[in-house]
Amino acid sequence: MDYSPFQDRFDFQIAQFLFKKVQMSGKNIDELMYLWAAQSLKDHGVAPFTSHKELYTLIDAIPFGDAPWQSFSVKYAGELPEGTPPSWMLADYEVWFRDPAVVLKNMLENSDFGKEFDYGAFREYDEKGERKWKDFMSGNWSWRQSDKIMKENPGNVGALFVPVISGSDKTTVSVATGQNEYYPLHISIGNIHNNVRRAHRESVIPIGFLSIPKGERKHDNDPAFLRFRRRLFHSSLSAIFQSLKSQMTTPRVMRCPDGHFRRVIYGLGPYIADYPEQALLSCVVQGWCTKCTSLPDDLDAPSGLRSQAWTDAMIEAFDAQILWDAYGIIADVVPFTNDFPRADIHELLAPDLLHQVIKGTFKDHLVTWVGGYLVAAHGEARANTIMDDIDRRISAVPSFPGLRCFPDGRRFKQWTGDDSKALMKVYLPTLSGYVPSEMLRCFSAFLDFCYLVRRSVINDSTLADIDDALLRFHQYRTIFQTSGARPEGFSLPQQHSLVHYRKLIEDFGAPNGLCSSITEAKHIKAVKQPWRRSSKFNALGQMLLTNQRLDKLGAAYATFKARGMLEGSVLDATYASLDLSPGDDSDSDGLEDEDDEEQYEGGPVDGPWVLGEVKLARTPQRRYPRDLATFSELISHPHFNFGNLVRRFLYDQLHLASENHPEDISLSDCPRVTGCETVQVFHSAVATFHAPSDPSGIGGMRHETIRSTPSWRGQGQRHDCVFAVIDEGAEGFRALAALRVKLFFSFRYQGTDFPCALIEWFSPAFGGPDPDTGMWVVHPDANEDGLRDTTVIHINTIFRLAHLIPVYGDSTIPPDFHFSYSLDVFDAFFVNKYIDHHSHEIAF
Ligand SMILES: [Zn+2]
Repeated sequence: MDYSPFQDRFDFQIAQFLFKKVQMSGKNIDELMYLWAAQSLKDHGVAPFTSHKELYTLIDAIPFGDAPWQSFSVKYAGELPEGTPPSWMLADYEVWFRDPAVVLKNMLENSDFGKEFDYGAFREYDEKGERKWKDFMSGNWSWRQSDKIMKENPGNVGALFVPVISGSDKTTVSVATGQNEYYPLHISIGNIHNNVRRAHRESVIPIGFLSIPKGERKHDNDPAFLRFRRRLFHSSLSAIFQSLKSQMTTPRVMRCPDGHFRRVIYGLGPYIADYPEQALLSCVVQGWCTKCTSLPDDLDAPSGLRSQAWTDAMIEAFDAQILWDAYGIIADVVPFTNDFPRADIHELLAPDLLHQVIKGTFKDHLVTWVGGYLVAAHGEARANTIMDDIDRRISAVPSFPGLRCFPDGRRFKQWTGDDSKALMKVYLPTLSGYVPSEMLRCFSAFLDFCYLVRRSVINDSTLADIDDALLRFHQYRTIFQTSGARPEGFSLPQQHSLVHYRKLIEDFGAPNGLCSSITEAKHIKAVKQPWRRSSKFNALGQMLLTNQRLDKLGAAYATFKARGMLEGSVLDATYASLDLSPGDDSDSDGLEDEDDEEQYEGGPVDGPWVLGEVKLARTPQRRYPRDLATFSELISHPHFNFGNLVRRFLYDQLHLASENHPEDISLSDCPRVTGCETVQVFHSAVATFHAPSDPSGIGGMRHETIRSTPSWRGQGQRHDCVFAVIDEGAEGFRALAALRVKLFFSFRYQGTDFPCALIEWFSPAFGGPDPDTGMWVVHPDANEDGLRDTTVIHINTIFRLAHLIPVYGDSTIPPDFHFSYSLDVFDAFFVNKYIDHHSHEIAF
């Protein structure tokens, strides 16, 4: 098999491992190869590469994925003033880019996308007959564009429309060299499914580095300088996309991910950017909405939508000053989209969950306003005490996989970035008791909006729920104004953008496939990691080289895989090439050894959709007695006898099929489990379930580890809570029960293994969710004697982890309180539906 330029599969995989996976420095590669060569001498072999230089040369010689970086420079072309002109007028501004036509060709030829690709715009309906929005091509925009393409030229009928999605994020920069700061421009295509765009490296590719000219501070407000910056931005984008222009009107035959050839026609698709950049893109004055014509001091008032046609008509009718003051139009710059067919920048501005919803509305607005409210209501000193306690409440939230630890003493209002996403999951219950109920309802409405728009599938009912959540949010947020926390009201562009989400979803499908979180994640790969590897000198050029090498390795991997050259493990392949048969200890599952299992928190699972399940850990704990009677003696409490619980469980299991076995069966009628040494104890179990809105594999599946262990990372015991399904006919939390797992174990009876959990029950405190927080409240169940109600259940009754947050009431948390006590000491808990999207979908 031909792995060229690599000698064989082994060399290719070593290259991938060193350069892509562990990103070893050139110096360390040299050292490793030196040691390797020394070792290989013993059996007259050689190391795979002589040095890092050879490795890089080989990667550069990979014939796939070739889209070399190029640059052009731009210079101010206006008249120079008398005397010494400002330096920005004389400087050259370099723009780095690579040909989008080549990048898109590679993307289209990538067979990884074969099954996760839409070959045309479509409308989809679910089993209830509701319209369903998910992947990009299910939206109205691609439908309307396809229509226009056909009307432009009847010869275009049957051509494959490929919308080019762009994104840039100035806030995550910056690579500064000399006069310039650069920030990356990424592209993707609308045909690739959202889940793939979220998960697959090759589906969002950096194609340019836009240049931000740095003037001296005194030029910051110079209209000529600002105009030059805007023009530089638009002319750069226009130049970068030039090579696609002819194929936007005349289709060209290209190979597609399924291996078939089709006539492909391109079009500019949505652009993902935060508000300041959206204003720059759409040539709208800061403070105005880029989508509609409402006035900046009352953004949420109903108004008409902006369009390029409307803007053009206004520019015909009015002079520049009127356009600026009365309509928020910057008339002296032409948006780059005007250079391309069918592209209207106002329509193309995509939703931006990260900056508009998560960082903008949640963190910058609501969380800040709570601080403002506490000061207005209680004065500075008392407000500080309360905020310290809210901080401790946040630290006292029980642990959950993927939930970051909230160290005490870090004032929540100082948190940024990813902290906001984590804070959203736990914040609301910690406010309960300290703010008016309207404020809790405002947060609850906002969080509902946020979790609904982030779902991976949105239907007509979801849209109605989104409308309802937004209405409630607008209604309850007035408490911040009336209470003095936000007297100036809510005319804020980022918060206002929420009113446009419904149309954006209808046009572009589910926003979580399009959000700037994607380009933010890509940014780490595209910029931050290469930046760390570069010598920081001439950083941009080196970064681009690193990117190029990563792309080549990625393209070679995809090609070799498609050709069946990466089947099985490299060890098997080597055995095969040496004509040996492998031993039977070559597990590569990743979950095999005890140590991994101890640490594994959960995460995406590759592979297709399957029915969810819970399985006990693979490795039983060895230090417990295996005889049921002895074990029962060891763990029974005054209030329960473990052996008897097992007998009752067994009775239920054996009579599952019979219609009406009595509820209260006497113990003497239950089977006895005696004599056999079959009890095994486990400290964890793994749940697998379908959660496509959360980080998940391509089939939408996800794993998580449920723990019940006497010692967790040296921080005392940990007994997680879970959901069990108790009534499949009911909706939301009414179908479920919250339980706490005290012990995972299995035993054998008459040749059958029973995987079980010893659990404590919780019951709802009220007949519905708490009206303020929108979350169900549960109490631990007690029996007649006031002791915890404990039962044995079959493990297949468990659905997945549940997150419970104490109802803190008016108690303050002592400073040394540890979150591992929380589930034991409080007597009521919120069932946290905001811990992840899946919980929001099931625990309402
Ligand atoms: Zn608007």
